[in-house]
Amino acid sequence: MFDIQEIRSQFSILDREVNGKPLVYLDNAATSQKPNSVLEVCHAYYTELNANVHRGIHTLSQLATEEMELSRRKIQKFINAEHDFEVIFTKGTTEGLNLISYILTQKLKKDDEIIISYLEHHSNIVPWQLLCERTGAKLRVIPIDENGILQLDYFDKFLSEKTKVVSVNQVSNALGIVNPIEEIIAKTRKNTDAYVVIDGAQSAPHFNIDVQKMDCDFFVFSGHKMYAPMGTGVLYGKREILEALPPFHGGGEMIATCSFDGTTYAGLPFKYEAGTPNVGGNIALGAAVDFMNRVGRENIQNHENALLEYAQRHLLEIEGLKVYGEKAKRVGVVSFNLEGVGISSDVGMILDKMGIAVRTGHHCTQPIMEFFNIAGTVRASFAVYNTFEEIDLLVEGVKKAQRMLS
Ligand SMILES: *Cc1c(COP(=O)(O)O)cnc(C)c1O
Repeated sequence: MFDIQEIRSQFSILDREVNGKPLVYLDNAATSQKPNSVLEVCHAYYTELNANVHRGIHTLSQLATEEMELSRRKIQKFINAEHDFEVIFTKGTTEGLNLISYILTQKLKKDDEIIISYLEHHSNIVPWQLLCERTGAKLRVIPIDENGILQLDYFDKFLSEKTKVVSVNQVSNALGIVNPIEEIIAKTRKNTDAYVVIDGAQSAPHFNIDVQKMDCDFFVFSGHKMYAPMGTGVLYGKREILEALPPFHGGGEMIATCSFDGTTYAGLPFKYEAGTPNVGGNIALGAAVDFMNRVGRENIQNHENALLEYAQRHLLEIEGLKVYGEKAKRVGVVSFNLEGVGISSDVGMILDKMGIAVRTGHHCTQPIMEFFNIAGTVRASFAVYNTFEEIDLLVEGVKKAQRMLS
C-alpha cells in the first residue's frame, strides 16, 4: 500500500522548518531530497568500506568494488540495459552529454547536422554547439508551438543523410512536457544512421525506463534528481557503439596497458571511467534505485500525476495565472507566471518566507523563455513525498503573492 506519511518519515529533512514554517519542498526538478536509506548507505560506506576500487588486493578494496558493481547491476535492471557494462558512472547528465558529444567528434564533418529541440536544457545545447565548432557541423532545432509541444513536421523536414546526431530530452525540465521520443526515434531510424541520444534527467525519476525497447543509442540521467547523492549520474550506451568509439578522459582505470610506445584501453565500462570514481555515491545510487523499487515505480508515477493534476487545476483557478504547456502531456512540473507580476523571483521570495521552496527564473532553458517572451517562470516540481496539503499551501502562497505584488 502507498502510505505517504510512511514515505515522508524516510526523509528527515522534511521535518525541518524554513523561516519558521514547515518546509514545503517543491524544487524536485532541480534536485530531490534523499531518503535515510540512501544517507545510511553513504555513511556506512565511509565508516566501514572506504577504499579505492578495482586496484586493491586487500579486503576493503574488494568489498568496495563488489558493492559498486552490484550497484551497476541494479541500475542496469532499472533501465533494462542488456549488459551491466553498458552502464557508465558519471557525475551527472551534463558530464554524460559532454562525454557523448566529445567521443563523436571524429564521426562528424563539415555540413553534417545535429538535431536538438527548443525544449532542451543548456546542457543538451552547449555541448553540441561545441561539437559544431570543432567539426563545422550545423545545429538544427525542432521548434515548439504555443503549448510548448514539439512541431514534428519540422523534424521530418530536417531529417536527411546529413543528420548524424539526434539529441532530445524525454521530459523538459522547464515545463515538464513529455516529448514523443518513441516517434522521434522511429523516424530517425527509418531515415538516417544518426546516433540517438536521450536526455533522461527528468524522466528517470518518474517513468519506467527501458532503453532496449526505446532503442536509443545513449541515455543519460542524474542520480541527484532521483533520490541519490549529488555528483552521481549514469551514461548508458549500446555495447557496439561504446566499443567502437574512442575514450573521453585518459588516466588511471581506463587503460589495459600503458607505455610510451602506445596505450591500449580497458574494456567497458572502465574505458569511460578514467580516474577514481565517486565510489560511495555510486553505491548510494543503487540504494536510491532500491528505494524507488520498494515504493513501486507505478505508485510513484500515479501519485505524482495526481499531484500535478491537482496543482494545475487549483492554480488555474487563480485569475491571471498562466501555466506554460498547459495543454501538453506533462509530468512532475507546473511552470507558471502571474499576469502583471513581471518578475518570477518576487513570487519565489514571498513563497520562501512561507517555507515553500520553488524555483524561479529561466531553469537553464533560455531559448524556451525567449520563445514565450518572458524572463522566467515560477516552477513547482513534485516528488513522491509531496502531499495535496502542500499543494494547498502553494496555491494559498501564490494568491498571497498576487495580492502583495499587484
Ligand atoms: C538537470 C538537467 C540536466 C543537467 O543535469 P546535471 O545534474 O545538472 O548535470 C540536463 N537536462 C535536463 C532535462 C535536466 O533536468
